[in-house]
Amino acid sequence: MSFACPTRDQRLVLDHVVRIAELGADGEIVDAVLEGAAAFAEGELAPLNRIGDTVRARHDGDAVRMPPGFVDAYRAFVAGGWQTVAAPQEAGGQGLPLALGAAVMEDLNAANLAFALCPMLSIGAIEALARFGSDQQKRDYLPRIVSGEWPATMNLTEPQAGSDVGALKTRAEPAGDGSWRITGTKIYITYGEHDLADNIIHLVLARTPDAPAGTRGISLFLVPKLLPDGRRNAIVCASIEHKLGIHASPTCVLNYDGATGWLVGEERGGMRAMFAMMNNARLNVGLQGVGIAERATQRALAFAAERIQGAPATDPAGAAVAIAEHADVRRMLLRMRALTMGARALTYAAFGEIDRAATGDTAAADRAALLTPLAKAWGTDVGCEVASLGVQVHGGMGYVEETGAAQHLRDARIAPIYEGTNGIQAADLVQRKLSLGNGDAFDSLIADIRAEAEDERLVALTDSVEILAATLRNATVEDRLAGSYPFLTMTSVLVAGWLLERLGRAMEAAGEADEFSRGRRSAIDYFLAAVVPEALGLGAAAGAGAELLYRVPASALA
Ligand SMILES: Cc1cc2nc3c(=O)[nH]c(=O)nc-3n(C[C@H](O)[C@H](O)[C@H](O)COP(=O)(O)OP(=O)(O)OC[C@H]3O[C@@H](n4cnc5c(N)ncnc54)[C@H](O)[C@@H]3O)c2cc1C
Repeated sequence: MSFACPTRDQRLVLDHVVRIAELGADGEIVDAVLEGAAAFAEGELAPLNRIGDTVRARHDGDAVRMPPGFVDAYRAFVAGGWQTVAAPQEAGGQGLPLALGAAVMEDLNAANLAFALCPMLSIGAIEALARFGSDQQKRDYLPRIVSGEWPATMNLTEPQAGSDVGALKTRAEPAGDGSWRITGTKIYITYGEHDLADNIIHLVLARTPDAPAGTRGISLFLVPKLLPDGRRNAIVCASIEHKLGIHASPTCVLNYDGATGWLVGEERGGMRAMFAMMNNARLNVGLQGVGIAERATQRALAFAAERIQGAPATDPAGAAVAIAEHADVRRMLLRMRALTMGARALTYAAFGEIDRAATGDTAAADRAALLTPLAKAWGTDVGCEVASLGVQVHGGMGYVEETGAAQHLRDARIAPIYEGTNGIQAADLVQRKLSLGNGDAFDSLIADIRAEAEDERLVALTDSVEILAATLRNATVEDRLAGSYPFLTMTSVLVAGWLLERLGRAMEAAGEADEFSRGRRSAIDYFLAAVVPEALGLGAAAGAGAELLYRVPASALA
């Protein structure tokens, strides 16, 4: 089934949600980027999605071979300048808004999630090096990561240090010449080794001598696969993981055996630098949910239009019709489209706030920080739900592999886990973001929604979220965390509903009445009529507190 990038949806969100014209982006450039990215994603990447899933990345000695077609596609990606879109101009980037770069990444994710992870990690590394790198690092490494010539990785996780990054043990010893020797084992390192490029730039968290325990003692190091003199650094890929999905993305165990590295930013300032990388990556993971949801929706729509099964309920003796005519299939398709649109609006909005923050707008910086856990967690939950609905629409053909619907579900499932699990995002929301700027970040978001929301269900959800926020702020830590996940979902649906309502109004005002506009507006109506009230119903769970969760030990649930 062919895939078409959703350029018209993207343009609508960029115009009316992000308001990209305010960010100085010329409309013709926006269109050119959207069309070019779509051509690349549809033409080069989408055809490799299935090959990547079946052939997979292969570990061979300490080398990793990518599936057929991936090396050429990566060359085309670099030649097309796709890594450079939103990268800083002083490092060779095009300096376009991150929100436009988000549309490019959505296309790559939708076409081939496993491929897209490689450029996604480089985007985070560019951010970290641009902000914290030394002049020499900015000269020797940054431009080559920006061009895509040398892709980058992000090395946090160790066997004993997953969500608890502060438990990491990898050591960094000064070598006496300004460099450091890095020793330790990192696991689950995405694109830690591959043959897409000669060099790979690893950004590695490690602990320097006498560093305090926990995150305060962590520093960030740049550790290249190839040293400046061309020799191979002391990094070995011991194995790659066998996974549920994203089979073409090599997930590596990397052994650092006294590898040469250089400090990025200040010693013991690693978490600050890493957060620059991670916040960016978190939004990009939210976009993975959007991309997969779009692809799964398109696949389900195509299948439902062709699969003939059963007479219509209104004419039981009549001829069998396409399943898209049956009410429950129609429900699933509408829900898939509505959730995809909502996740796109929320995630692009967060990128737009980062663009505004770059001009010195501190309120926008706080808004971006607040929206980040929502976009990451809810965006990826949407990816999984929509991909699962996609399987359901296909019936038995969804559960067997040949339609591709199952691959989307398998691929989507990692996104709620990495870049800080969705549970960690919910904790971030209630522990840090609710009180950001003395609570102003959250309160101003609610005020903006109140000023614009018209639909009475959206207004009711606004009331409920605001009351819950007050309750959670005054609650014990245990009660606050117990309510964090349902609260995150409610807040995400509220923001998405607010932005979709605005999108619907803009389409109406423009007098657009073609099939696309009617379809999108009815998906928005569905979001307001069905998804928003569901979120309202989560209020009871969000406010129930820890007593409900801890009444018995987990062993009693066995
Ligand atoms: C395919 C893949 C690619 C990856 N790529 C990278 C990469 O490139 N670089 C990298 O550094 N890492 C990478 N990771 C690692 C990933 O970020 C971690 O798996 C993730 O952070 C979770 O850590 P964990 O697996 O140890 O789970 P755990 O931390 O053990 O979590 C298990 C469960 O407990 C919950 N939990 C744990 N602590 C808390 C808490 N304090 N509060 C509430 N709930 C909690 C979690 O939400 C989760 O549900 C990758 C992982 C995979 C599978």
